[in-house]
Amino acid sequence: MKPPAETPSRKILGLIGAQKEYFLKGETRELDFRKSQLKRLKLAIEARENIILEALQKDLGKSAFEGYASETGIILEEIKHALKWLPRWMAERAVPVPLSQFPAYASITPEPFGNVLIIAPYNYPFHLAIAPLVAAIAAGNTAIIKPSELVPHTSLVIRDLIGQTFPENYIAVVEGGRPTNTALLKQRFDMIFFTGGTAVGKIVMQAAAKYLTPVVLELGGKSPCIVDGSVNLKTAARRIAWGRFWNAGQTCVAPDYLLVERSVKDRLLPEIKASIEQFYGSDPAQSKDYGRIVNQRHFDRLKKYLKNGKVFTGGQISVKERYIAPTVLTDVKSDSPVMQEEIFGPILPVMEYGTEQEAIDFINSRPRPLALYLFTANRKFEREVLKRTTFGGGCVNDTMVHLSVPDLPFGGVGDSGMGAYHGRMGFEAFSYKRSVLRKSRWIDIPLRYPPFNGPKFQLLKKFMG
Ligand code: NAD
Repeated sequence: MKPPAETPSRKILGLIGAQKEYFLKGETRELDFRKSQLKRLKLAIEARENIILEALQKDLGKSAFEGYASETGIILEEIKHALKWLPRWMAERAVPVPLSQFPAYASITPEPFGNVLIIAPYNYPFHLAIAPLVAAIAAGNTAIIKPSELVPHTSLVIRDLIGQTFPENYIAVVEGGRPTNTALLKQRFDMIFFTGGTAVGKIVMQAAAKYLTPVVLELGGKSPCIVDGSVNLKTAARRIAWGRFWNAGQTCVAPDYLLVERSVKDRLLPEIKASIEQFYGSDPAQSKDYGRIVNQRHFDRLKKYLKNGKVFTGGQISVKERYIAPTVLTDVKSDSPVMQEEIFGPILPVMEYGTEQEAIDFINSRPRPLALYLFTANRKFEREVLKRTTFGGGCVNDTMVHLSVPDLPFGGVGDSGMGAYHGRMGFEAFSYKRSVLRKSRWIDIPLRYPPFNGPKFQLLKKFMG
C-alpha cells in the first residue's frame, strides 16, 4: 500500500518540529556558527546572482541594475554589515546593581526567540524574504520562509537557494499562497516577521495572538511627498520621479502622492515630466529599465485609478504586457480611490496646499504613513513637519534612500506597521533581551527574610527610598 500523500499542514508540522528540536541543541546560538551561516548565505547568493536577476526580470520586468541595487546587492551589504558588527551586537551588557542586591552582577544578553516564520510580499521578493533571514540568522534563530506566490520564478529560486545551502531543520522554505500561509499561521512559532499589506497584517496579528507570538509587521500605506518653493525643482523632480517609478511604482516606501505648494505646481510638474523622459525615453514601454505590473489583478486595479484625475503625463497602458506608463495625475479629489488606497504602481496624484499648516493637517488627517518625504530649504518648515507628523522613516530632500543606511531602523507606525529592522535593529527584532542577576554565594544579607520587625523595615526604607 502506498503511504498517504503528505498534506501541506503535515509537512509544515514536521518542519516546525524538526526546527524546534534543532534549536534546542544550542548550535545556532554560537557566534562562530552564526557567522559561518551568514558567509554561506553570502556565497550562495553570489553564486546564483544571474539566476536571481533573471527570475526578477521574468516576474516583474526588473532590470539587472534595479535587481542588483534593490534585491541582491543590498542583501550582500546587509550580510557584510552583520558579519562586522555581530560580536558587538551579541555582547553581554552589564547594568548597575542596586545596593539592596549587593554584591551581585547584573547583565542583559540578546537571545534568539527560537523558531521564526518570515512571510514575504511580491514587490522586492528576494530582498524582503532574505533580509529578515539575515537578521534571523544573526540573532541565532531557525527559520521558515514563505515567499510570495505572485512571483513564481523568484519563489523557486529562493526555495532552491535555501534548500541547497541549509538543512531543513535549520532554515526551510515553504512555497504557496493564501492556503499555505493560513496553514502556517495556525502553528505555534516563537516569532513572526511579516511584510505585506495592512489588511493581511491584521490577519497575521490575529493568528499570532492565539499563542501570544511576538510579531514584526512591515506594512504599507500612502507616503506623502511635500514640495515647497524653496528648493531646486529640477533636482527635486528627478528624485521624486526616481522614487515613484522605480520598480514601476511597486515599492512600499515610494512617494505615493505629491503635496505641492500651490504656487510651485506649474513649475514642478514639467520638471517631473522631463525627468521621466530622461530616464525612460519618450516611450517608456520600450525602455529596458522600466518594470511591469506583477499580475492582471493589480493591473486592473491600477487602470481604474487613471480615471480619478486629469492625466498630466503618461496614462498609456498595454494589457498584454501589463504596462502602465509613468503617469502624473492632477485635479484629483482627496476622497477618490487613488487618494484613499495605497497606489503601489506608477501613478503619481498631485495634491496642492496653500499654507504649511494645511500640508501638516492633511497628513495628520490620514493613517500614519510608512514614509514621508519633504523637499524644502526652509529649516523652520522642516522642523515643524518633523515635530508635528508621525511616520516610520523618510528623507528631507530625497526619496527612499533612507533604506540604504544599514543602521537606520526601517519600519512603520500605526497602520504602516510595528517593529523595525535592518542592521542592528534587525538583530534586535529577532532577539529578546534576557536579564540575569548573578548573586554572591558567600554573603547573604538577612534583611528580606521573615520575621520582619521595626528595624528591618527602617533599613528596607533606607535601601529602597
Ligand atoms: P500581501 O499582504 O497581499 O501578501 C503578503 C504575504 O501574505 C504573501 O506571502 C501572501 O501569500 C500572504 N497572504 C496574502 N493574503 C493572505 C491572506 N488572506 N491570509 C494569509 N496570508 C495571505 O502583500 P503583497 O501584495 O505581496 O505586497 C504589497 C504590500 O506589501 C503593499 O501594501 C506594500 O506597501 C507592502 N510592503 C511593505 C513593505 C515594508 O517593508 N513595510 C515592503 C514591501 C511591501
